[in-house]
Amino acid sequence: MVDFQSVLDAIKETTDKAKDRGQIADYIPELANVDMHKFGIHLLDLEQHNFSAGNSNERFSIQSISKVYTLSMAMGLIGEKLWERVDVEPSGDPFNHLSLLELEKGIPRNPLINPGAIVVADILVSLLDHPKEDFLAFVRNIAGDNMIDYDEKIAASEKLTGFHNYAAANLLKSYNNLENDVETVLDFYFHQCSLTMSCAELANTFYMFINNGKCRKNNTFLTKGQVKRINALMLTCGFYDEAGEFAFEVGLPGKSGVGGGIVALLPNKFCVAAWSPGLNDKGNSKLGMLALEKLTTETELSIF
Ligand code: GLN
Repeated sequence: MVDFQSVLDAIKETTDKAKDRGQIADYIPELANVDMHKFGIHLLDLEQHNFSAGNSNERFSIQSISKVYTLSMAMGLIGEKLWERVDVEPSGDPFNHLSLLELEKGIPRNPLINPGAIVVADILVSLLDHPKEDFLAFVRNIAGDNMIDYDEKIAASEKLTGFHNYAAANLLKSYNNLENDVETVLDFYFHQCSLTMSCAELANTFYMFINNGKCRKNNTFLTKGQVKRINALMLTCGFYDEAGEFAFEVGLPGKSGVGGGIVALLPNKFCVAAWSPGLNDKGNSKLGMLALEKLTTETELSIF
């Protein structure tokens, strides 16, 4: 039996000593208000034992980690039809890049880069009666926690400066890959990104990806096959143009967000969420990457 708690404590000690903690994402002005020195990590194993260190119960902006929830909800609703509107290839480009979108005539490379997530948001806006409320209820349900919520200030802040996402949505519209109007879809997208959750809450929601689609309370949200696909997408596309590096250093499927969170998982074993607000130049948490690299190195547990 691996002593996860000692490993997490040692990771926390290492990150405490780190001199370079990366840079906070200030292109969404409201994100810049976070204390750079925060660090949290929470691991949940298949038997539902919990291990944590640092600020693991403090909520932060999950940003692109939310793309995994919207993808899961959309897959649950329309299944394979999703792939008519978005591809499943890594992009090798930054999360907000647009050149491939134009080259490939409005079909985003994958659902975890911004243009792909905006298409998934459009699908949910079309299918749900009350998109923002229904999506929030979905996340609360898989978390088993009714206190999870959007941060309206962060959503509003991103709306003011989200020119790149407006450009992506307009390009998608011009290629007939957006059914609803740009403003409505981006309002939903900025809200999903503004969800605030702690490492512990993130680990709880990702439990279904280690447990064949069944969440902690044993409700089934996804089929085994859908979990296989979402985990594959996280491995190949979850870290944008650093997906190779993450597989190389950490060796787990996962997803990052510019709020400094990273969630990763080993099917049938554990899921883990780490948070440190400073990012590296690819937009992934600098110490979060280091923490997870240490975790899989020390425990010798990875998909490889
Ligand atoms: N809301 C952010 C954006 O669209 C999410 C990006 C991220 O977390 N990588 O730019």
